[in-house]
Amino acid sequence: MSTVTDILAGYAALQAGQEAFYKDLHQHPELSHQEHRTAGRVAGKLREYGCTVQTGIGGTGVVGVLANGPGPTVLLRAELDALPVREDTGADYASTATAKDAQGQDVPVAHACGHDMHMSCLLGMVKLMADHRDRWSGTLLPLFQPAEETGDGAQGMVDDGLFKRIPAPDVALAQHLLSGVAGTVLTRPGPFMATEDSINVTVYGKGGHGAIPQHTIDPVVIAAMAIVRLQTIVSREVAPGEIAVVTVGSVHAGTRSNLIPDHARLQLNLRSYAEPTHQRMLASVQRIVRAESQAAGAPQDPDFDTVGSFPLTVNDHVTTDRAAAAFAAHFGDHAGEIARQTVSEDFSNIPNAAGVPYTYWALGFTEEKTYRAAERAGRLQDLISNHSPKFLPPLQPCLRTGTEALVAAALAWLAPAGS
Ligand SMILES: [Zn+2]
Ligand SMILES: [Zn+2]
Repeated sequence: MSTVTDILAGYAALQAGQEAFYKDLHQHPELSHQEHRTAGRVAGKLREYGCTVQTGIGGTGVVGVLANGPGPTVLLRAELDALPVREDTGADYASTATAKDAQGQDVPVAHACGHDMHMSCLLGMVKLMADHRDRWSGTLLPLFQPAEETGDGAQGMVDDGLFKRIPAPDVALAQHLLSGVAGTVLTRPGPFMATEDSINVTVYGKGGHGAIPQHTIDPVVIAAMAIVRLQTIVSREVAPGEIAVVTVGSVHAGTRSNLIPDHARLQLNLRSYAEPTHQRMLASVQRIVRAESQAAGAPQDPDFDTVGSFPLTVNDHVTTDRAAAAFAAHFGDHAGEIARQTVSEDFSNIPNAAGVPYTYWALGFTEEKTYRAAERAGRLQDLISNHSPKFLPPLQPCLRTGTEALVAAALAWLAPAGS
């Protein structure tokens, strides 16, 4: 028997406990930066499985160290946080939780992105690896980050001295439930998820009476000119064929028709798949809005406030090929490729800070019959997606597949026992 098959033979004994743990997390979701109970539950399990555990990194972040002799160090990431979503799945273990969000509003909370499943799979993997220390050599770093949904949790752990507190990894791995058939494991080398920036821009003018425009500097006109010219970033500055998006999703200025306001506010959203493009777009936004303000004779330069950003996720080719080969060997035709995603992730901040390669793969979560029917009808967009109130991956085969994928991938790096 291969080492992977041998280690995974222990799954049957683990399954009932893993499903119960998952349901418990699912019924007790916590918002980004508030994951105290979840972090405590995860840390408890890591200790039970023989890990040395560090807690409170970057807020609620938890990392286990399972040292098992000489060999490579493999970091595996899961996320602790849930979303302000009212679950509407009808499951008997559905969440009815509520919490106060960062603005102090009462909101419903649910694990509508599957982070509860990622955590359960990673803990299951650690348990199996701990039970078979005789079959591998090296170090595992199961890492549970806070606040993935707000995009600042991974960087928060790095800034809090993550790599002073744990050994440096040789490679970093992560997985996520994404659109696909439940039970499949899907990889993609190269650019996989977009970088995203949300930027609030304020342009300044000089307010006054709508009947005396010559005594004012109208920020509404500055904003309008800037919005039109921002459209030329993608059409005139980004190479044709390269994917980039600049959206002005919100414009606010003034209160009534005969009053020229003294400022206008824009909210911009930018996405791209290559760092040089990303940097050029950021610079172009500033250049255009500044220049339009100057053209109007604005009394003050515009303000730019980045209120959220996600880094680019670019899967290292060699690392991804190695994981994909391990998946093909273990999952056969349930291993495959996935298209580039327009969503964003902050995981890459961790391997980038350590200067190590990474790969991030997808786990399908839609029942095969449902997925194939939608595919035949050309209606894949109608399937329930992450962040939907109806998002609910089937317990199986998802928990088993996610656990097996982590074991198979980690063993592609770890040394065989006794080496
Ligand atoms: Zn999400
Ligand atoms: Zn997620």
